[in-house]
Amino acid sequence: MRKPIIAGNWKMYKTFDEAVAFIEEVSDKVPAQDKVDAVICSPALYIPTLKAMADDTALAIGAQTMHEAEEGAFTGEISPAQLESVGTDYVVLGHSERREYYNETDEAVNRKVAAALAHNIVPIICCGETLSEREADATNEKVTTQITKALTGFTAEEVKHMVIAYEPIWAIGTGKTATADQANEVCGVIRQVVTELYDEATAQAIRIQYGGSVKPENIDELLAKEHIDGALVGGASLQPASYLALVEAG
Ligand code: PGA
Repeated sequence: MRKPIIAGNWKMYKTFDEAVAFIEEVSDKVPAQDKVDAVICSPALYIPTLKAMADDTALAIGAQTMHEAEEGAFTGEISPAQLESVGTDYVVLGHSERREYYNETDEAVNRKVAAALAHNIVPIICCGETLSEREADATNEKVTTQITKALTGFTAEEVKHMVIAYEPIWAIGTGKTATADQANEVCGVIRQVVTELYDEATAQAIRIQYGGSVKPENIDELLAKEHIDGALVGGASLQPASYLALVEAG
């Protein structure tokens, strides 16, 4: 049985005071870690503070992206070692917004996954199709390519501990959720890709989240599906009450 993982992706929302107030309110209310993994991926700037606040609680703190290099002259970027040095637990990689606005390629995602593992940060690897790809029946092909490239070069043991997030781009921030069956079908395709690349045991171990307009009203139906092991949540992770409702559903 895979443990559900509910990760909030705050994107570029919340001031420092707002972030602190949120963590103050939720951190000791999240369920125990043997039941669900609860994560907040905050702006990197706040991670040390939020991490210290959540220290004795079951809440994990993640980043939303990172650079792939160890260090160097990359003005404005944040390295995996820097994230590790402030205790970052997870990092979202290859989010569709990063792919679209910052040219994050499948190859770069693959290198970032390697960098995350080297720094003991669990990668949440995003994939998903655009509306026109879905309409052209190219969804399975798109996620298969994205996941195959992202997982190139890793051992089964490494892959078992990764998290994949299936996020249809047309469902992100639009209020349009994929139906639970649509989401489950593609998460099943991803699990099949992992079976083919590795083996059945690895595919059964890796956790696959759904993301795209997840909210307290639709989480139960999504989590009831065989291949959906959690959610990556934008909008509904910004309010303590809805975030807590989501992790309690996990
Ligand atoms: P949303 O965002 O829940 O606001 O649709 C999901 C995401 O981008 O991870």
